[in-house]
Amino acid sequence: MRTIELEGNLEPIRVGTIICIGRNYAEHAKEMKSDLPEVPMYFLKPPSALVHDGGSIVIPSISKDVHHEVEMTVLIGKGGKNIPRDAALQHVSGYGVGLDMTMRDVQAEAKKKGMPWALAKGFDTSAPVSRFIPASNVPNPQAMLLELNVNGSARQRGTTQDLIFPVQNLIAYLSQFITLERGDVIYTGTPEGVAQVKSGDTLSAALKNGSGQTVASLTVRVQ
Ligand code: MG
Repeated sequence: MRTIELEGNLEPIRVGTIICIGRNYAEHAKEMKSDLPEVPMYFLKPPSALVHDGGSIVIPSISKDVHHEVEMTVLIGKGGKNIPRDAALQHVSGYGVGLDMTMRDVQAEAKKKGMPWALAKGFDTSAPVSRFIPASNVPNPQAMLLELNVNGSARQRGTTQDLIFPVQNLIAYLSQFITLERGDVIYTGTPEGVAQVKSGDTLSAALKNGSGQTVASLTVRVQ
């Protein structure tokens, strides 16, 4: 059983569906030469993709170009279907930081052939995630900072102010098609600055509040 940790919760929470949003920052869409989406674009990762703080990323042998994408992650606490936008944040139990690891070469091939992204995005160890902090500690999820350092050097910097579709909109949209359940995790998209990782790299990601205090962090190593 794959579980996630929510600060203050004694029991680990069984992870449900891992839903990832693509192209949710304009500057990242631009660096990928993609059009801006009119509605949220999403894909799924299996529970076996999860990696916790201190864990390792294993690069599949079919890829020569695995990229990091640092993202704010949202933990669903109360399930629902057709959740209205104005009630959406009541369904969130925690926030964290995660990495949407991507086989960019495999993804490029899939895009070209009109194939799904499941292989490029959903391999084992493709979803490192931090411990979650309670939603009550995050009064405004659109005022958070994202940071990723690789081997101690700054690699990605972003603010959730730039989300094209904010968390409420994502929950309202997704819950029309997927009944959300406790333990589901949403990766909310990456800001610009995605790049290749190499064996031996140490990736340190942080979610900070508006005052610059780290509220969630994650360190993983590439095997
Ligand atoms: Mg992503």
